[in-house]
Parts: sequence; structure tokens; C-alpha cells
Amino acid sequence: MLMLLRRNARQNTTVMPIQKSPAQATQEIFDILVRRGQEDYIGEPVSQIEHACQSAQLAEAEGFDEEVILAALLHDIGHLCALPNEEEMPGLGILRHEQVGGNYLSKLGFSEKICRLVEGHVQAKRYLTFKNQQYFDKLSEASRQTLAWQGGRMDAEEAEAFESNFLFELMIKMRQWDEAAKEMHKPLPDLERYKEMCLRHLRRHAGMFQLHAAA
Ligand code: FE
Repeated sequence: MLMLLRRNARQNTTVMPIQKSPAQATQEIFDILVRRGQEDYIGEPVSQIEHACQSAQLAEAEGFDEEVILAALLHDIGHLCALPNEEEMPGLGILRHEQVGGNYLSKLGFSEKICRLVEGHVQAKRYLTFKNQQYFDKLSEASRQTLAWQGGRMDAEEAEAFESNFLFELMIKMRQWDEAAKEMHKPLPDLERYKEMCLRHLRRHAGMFQLHAAA
């Protein structure tokens, strides 16, 4: 029996087994996106799949690579992949959806960069609301409500720590795409393209893991 173990790129330590092959993981993710994608993007005028695709399109339009495009596409997967026992913010989706999503993608074999970007997009909102009063004032009603559940605005110490994160600038970008990806009646792009991108990423990334043969 073959077993793939993923390795933490920065610490070079084994962290968890990958649970699915690249093809299985890709299929599972797109099944979820298609099956649950018609649901409302909590309190906003677009569906989950419209929001996901528009985020990815914005990342791509700015010339970012496939890892960043996939992070943008999947940044809210935690709202859709959560198990029934996951805690919710009443009427506002899954509590800590960014962690749920990051953990889920990690188990499927996505790169650490993608998982950290997904986990970080809520912190970017907390950071920006601390840094900029006008930004806070312009939050949509739904976003203002979720902010309270997400820990509210950062304080100065948290903001300083966040600024030193190696993905800080990209996390801010993720948040900007997240906010802009609410355009109504915009046709969906070809999902097959994203599916291929996802499969390519998982295959490439799986190649970086140690392959162990177990009895
Ligand atoms: Fe979002």
C-alpha cells in the first residue's frame, strides 16, 4: 500500500497524510462547488460560486500565478465543506470558516501557501478595519456582523504581527478581491479551466512529497 506524507516546507517536518489522490481531491472540490455553489454568499447579492469565480478572475486579471488564483477561488470553501457539527454564526455561515477551509485544503494536498492564504483572508479584514476607519465604515452590513464574530478589529500589537507575516501583502490582496467579487449577473467562467488548474497544482505539489511504501 502506498502512502503519501506531506511535508511542511518551512520546518521540513511531516505534518499529516494526504487523504485523496489529486484527481479525487479535484473531483471532490468541484462537486462541492457545483452542488452548494448556488447558495447565497451570506448576506450578499451573489451566489457562492459567483463569488468564488469572480475572486479568482480578479486574481488572474492582476497577473497572479495559479497558486494565488486557486487560493482566491477557494478562499470561502470552509463555508461549503464544513461538517454538520461545525459551529455556525447564526445566519452568517460557518464560524472560523477560514480555518475550516485551510485545514480541509491542507488534508487534500494543497500547498502551504494556498492554505495560509485561505486562513489569512479574515485576518486581513480585521487588519484593514483597524488601520482605516473609512474602510470599516464602508463594510457591508453582513461583513460588519461577521467581523464581530471574527474577533473584531485588530489591536496595534496584532496588526504589527500581521504585517510581519511573509504573506501579508497577498493576504491584503485576497481581502480586496473578496470584497470586489460581488458583481451581480456576471456570467460564470468555464469551471473546467479551474478544475484543470486545481489538478495540475495538486499533481505538482504531490510530487514534492515523500513517497513511502508501507507493507
Ligand atoms: Fe469571500
